[in-house]
Amino acid sequence: MTESNNLTTQPLQTHEIFDTVRTFADLGLPEPLLRGLADLGFERPTHIQAQLIPIALAGKDCLGQAKTGTGKTAAFGIPLMAKIPADAAFGALILVPTRELAIQVAKELHDIGRHTGLHIVPVYGGQRIDQQVPKLQRKPQIIVGTPGRVMDLRERRLLPYDNIRFAVLDEVDRMLDIGFRDDIRKILGGIPKHPQTLFVSATISPEIEKLARQYLHEPEKIVTVAKSLTVSQVRQSYVAVEPWDKRKMLLHILKAETPELTVVFCRTKRTVDIVTEYLQKHGIDAHAMHGDMYQRKRDKVMDKLREGSLGVLVASDLASRGLDVDDISHVVNYDLPDDPEVYIHRIGRTARAGREGVAWSLVCPDQGDLLSAIEQLANVEIPSRRFEDFAPGQVPAEVAAHRELAERRKAESDDSKSRDIVSVTKVDPADASRFPGGLVPTAPPPRRLGGRVATRRR
Ligand code: ADP
Ligand code: MG
Repeated sequence: MTESNNLTTQPLQTHEIFDTVRTFADLGLPEPLLRGLADLGFERPTHIQAQLIPIALAGKDCLGQAKTGTGKTAAFGIPLMAKIPADAAFGALILVPTRELAIQVAKELHDIGRHTGLHIVPVYGGQRIDQQVPKLQRKPQIIVGTPGRVMDLRERRLLPYDNIRFAVLDEVDRMLDIGFRDDIRKILGGIPKHPQTLFVSATISPEIEKLARQYLHEPEKIVTVAKSLTVSQVRQSYVAVEPWDKRKMLLHILKAETPELTVVFCRTKRTVDIVTEYLQKHGIDAHAMHGDMYQRKRDKVMDKLREGSLGVLVASDLASRGLDVDDISHVVNYDLPDDPEVYIHRIGRTARAGREGVAWSLVCPDQGDLLSAIEQLANVEIPSRRFEDFAPGQVPAEVAAHRELAERRKAESDDSKSRDIVSVTKVDPADASRFPGGLVPTAPPPRRLGGRVATRRR
């Protein structure tokens, strides 16, 4: 087994994450919050915290962008808790895209604010409403919720909007994405008086920013992304693999490397189930997590993950957003995501708050362009990693026949000086079943990947 160059490996630089000039006390925070932060061992604010907190304390709307794992939760949570009066029932509404994130954000704020006497309640679908009612009847100051459940509770008159003076969207690009956009419009539009509004995310596209600004009043935009959007302490590499060999390769890597706590990301729920079952069958302590599972089961898996008593979590992108679990040492992209930004979110699950992490991506021969797009966004060159002792499976007969045909045609067309390669390798897209993993070669593999694999090796 050889590891190629490690261009992306950089030593951890404290100043890349933390503000080395200001302390939390310098930011003018009330004493109970300073005590809470000290209890948690937060010594210095991160860059986004040092920049966002004073602006938010001054009452301004903010649009904040910073890498994953840089403490954006505390960046909006601290000023909010500093400013909200103890008698402001339902004074702050924090919206997040997933149930797990609602629980996590509520917990983090609860921990930081433990000496403030503020009540923070997470609300999310999947949990029975009657379990949430008593908590809401205690008139918490801060609600952290998923949009669907928030709207539901408001309709039942359990969650009034009249007193909301702070609104937060975490993972704002996801929240203003097509899936949630209408819900957000309804919720934010339903708040009678413009609340102080804080939006944060690791990635914000120009379209999303335009949308976001419709909800913000003369916002300050804070961007603490230096050169790269990616977490610099994640050692990234890719493994070239044929689609029919992916499961086998995953198993091979997990056995060869015995990583501590690994999250494997798959594109579909079905793949999550298939991969989990395969790993279990081969002696790996793998657990699945995706949106079709019952909430209770998801909670159980998350608990195990947090306790560190779980080896491998196989997950859909549900888990790629904002989840902060200590000590995830490895992230594996079993499927590359179509959207390069999702890659950034996924690998951000490791290397939290300055620790180191490893990310591997399984890349099929036809995914060279996607890999390049990811490299461009992450502003990093992802080196290839080869496992010399991996024995590839047999090329399925259909694929072999097809490749041979394509080769022959290519040779012929090269002869006749025709370069129309794409048309000769075209296959009937309706016939996806003939190709493993549903991967239908509609074009020859981009030569770039093959070339890179060869040239990158040292
Ligand atoms: P983000 O939302 O930017 O991805 P999180 O808010 O989830 O990041 O924070 C990542 C981790 O860093 C959490 O475990 C959090 O408790 C920790 N953290 C946040 N701020 C600090 C700080 N100033 N010092 C030390 N750890 C911090
Ligand atoms: Mg976050």
